[in-house]
Amino acid sequence: LTSRPISRYQPRCQLALSIGRKVLPSASLVPDDPTVLLTIAGMLQFKPIFLGKVPCATTSQRCIRTNDVENVGRTSRHHTFFEMLGNFSFGDYFKKEAIKWAWELTTLEKSMVTVYEDDDEAFEMGHDEVGVPVERIKRMGEEDNFWTSGVTGPCGPCSELYYDFRPERGHSDVDLGDDIRFVEFYNLVFMQYNRTDDGSLEPLKQKNIDTGLGLELMARILQKVPNNYETDLIFPIIEKASELANVSYALADDSMKTNLKIIGDHLHAIVYLLSDGVVPSNIGRGYVVRQLVRRAVRTGRLVGIKGDIEEAFLPTIAEKVIDLSTHIDSDIKTRAFLILEELKREELQFVQTLERGEKLLDQMLADALSSAQENSTAPCLSGKDAFLLYDTYGFPVEITREVADERGVNIDMNSFDIEMENQRRQSQATHNAVKLEVEDGGDQAENIRDTEFRGYDALSTRAVVEA
Ligand code: ATP
Ligand code: MG
Ligand code: MG
Ligand code: MG
Repeated sequence: LTSRPISRYQPRCQLALSIGRKVLPSASLVPDDPTVLLTIAGMLQFKPIFLGKVPCATTSQRCIRTNDVENVGRTSRHHTFFEMLGNFSFGDYFKKEAIKWAWELTTLEKSMVTVYEDDDEAFEMGHDEVGVPVERIKRMGEEDNFWTSGVTGPCGPCSELYYDFRPERGHSDVDLGDDIRFVEFYNLVFMQYNRTDDGSLEPLKQKNIDTGLGLELMARILQKVPNNYETDLIFPIIEKASELANVSYALADDSMKTNLKIIGDHLHAIVYLLSDGVVPSNIGRGYVVRQLVRRAVRTGRLVGIKGDIEEAFLPTIAEKVIDLSTHIDSDIKTRAFLILEELKREELQFVQTLERGEKLLDQMLADALSSAQENSTAPCLSGKDAFLLYDTYGFPVEITREVADERGVNIDMNSFDIEMENQRRQSQATHNAVKLEVEDGGDQAENIRDTEFRGYDALSTRAVVEA
C-alpha cells in the first residue's frame, strides 16, 4: 500500500480484507430515495438493509458533501467528492469487533481514539481487550461522540480514530482540535439505543455498526504527503491543470496552490456526478453540478487557464479524472464520451453567460455613475447587484471590485456579505443527516428525514434571469 500507487492498487479492498467481508459496489451519488439530494455517507444505501435482511457489508462509497465546499483546498483534508470506506453490521458483529478491527487496520503507535464519555464499554474494550494504551484513549462529550439520527430514533455513542503526525510530543493534555498534529480519519458509530419521545434511551434489539473512513485521507497517511490533494488519487488532476495554466505546483504560492486544489477537487466531483446521470440545471442536484462547473471555470481563469467561447478546457482536465478511474468505477470509462460532451456544453454556455455578465456590469457601473452625478453622492454599486453578478453570471466579487475600481465606483460590501450569508445558509441545507426510526421499540429502522433544500425557491428566479 505504501509503495504502490493507491489509485491503482485499490486500498478499497484493504478494509474488507482486514475484516474478512465482501465488498459491495458503491451506490450512485444520486440516492435511490427522493428525500435526500445526494449521497453524503456510506450508510445511505443501507437504509433498506436496516430492515434486517443482510447481516454485514463493506463498501467504498462515493460521496458528495457540498457543505465542505468552502473548505476545499483550504484544509488539508476536505473535498466535495471523496470516497468513504465503510464496514457495516446490521445486527451481526458489534462494538468489540468494530473497535478491534479498526485498531488493527491502523498504526498502533500513531493513533488516538476517542470514546463517548459514558461509554465505559468502548473504553474497556479498547483498553483491556485490544490493548490501546490509556493515554491514547480520550473521552469526549455528546457533541463530538454521540450520534443521533434525529430528536428520536436510533442513536448511540461513537468512537473516532485520529492519526497523530507528532506522537513524539507525548500524550498528556493533547488537543485533538490541533489539525496540524491530528487528523480524524475513521468514525465508528455504535447504534445501540432508541431515543423515545420522552427522551429516554432504550436498548435496541438489533444493534448496528456504521463506520466511515476517508479513502483520500488514508492514502495521504500511507503515501506520507502533506495533504489529501497530493495523493495519487488527486494530484495527477492538479498537475494537468498546472500544465494548462503553465505554472509549477511546486513553485506556486499558497493561493495558487489552493486554486489548483479547487480545480482538482471540483473536476473529480463533476465527472462522477455527470457519470451518475446528474444533468446541470438550475435546481437541486443539477444546480450542485452547475455551480461546481462555474467555480472550476472561474478558478481556472484565476490560475491563468485561457478557455474561451470556442474552446472549453474542463474536458481536458476531466479526461485525467477518467484515466484515473479504475475497474471499480468502470461506468465512468464507458460513459466518457457523454460526460465530456456534457461538460463542454455546460462550460461554453457558462462562458457566454460570463460575457453577458461583463456587459451587464458595464451597464450597472454606468448607471451608478450617472445616478451619483444626479444626486451628488459617491458612486456605489449595490450589494444586490454585485451578488447578482456573482450568483447568476459567475463573477467573483474581486473581479467586480477591480472593474468598479477602475471606473471609480465603490461596492456596498456589507449588503453583498448579507446576500452571500443567506445563500450559504441555503446550501448548507443540502447536507443532511440520515434519519432512521424504530417502530414500537422493535428492531426495524426506516424513514429518512426530508431534505430541506431551500435552494429550489431561490434558484427558480435564477432560471428566469438566465432564460
Ligand atoms: P471532519 O470533522 O474532518 O469534517 P466529519 O466528522 O464530518 O469529518 P464523518 O461524517 O465522521 O466526517 O465521516 C467519516 C470520515 O469520512 C471522516 O473521518 C473522514 O475520514 C471522511 N470525510 C468526511 N468528510 C470529508 C470530506 N469533505 N472530504 C474527505 N473526506 C471526508
Ligand atoms: Mg465534516
Ligand atoms: Mg469530525
Ligand atoms: Mg466524524
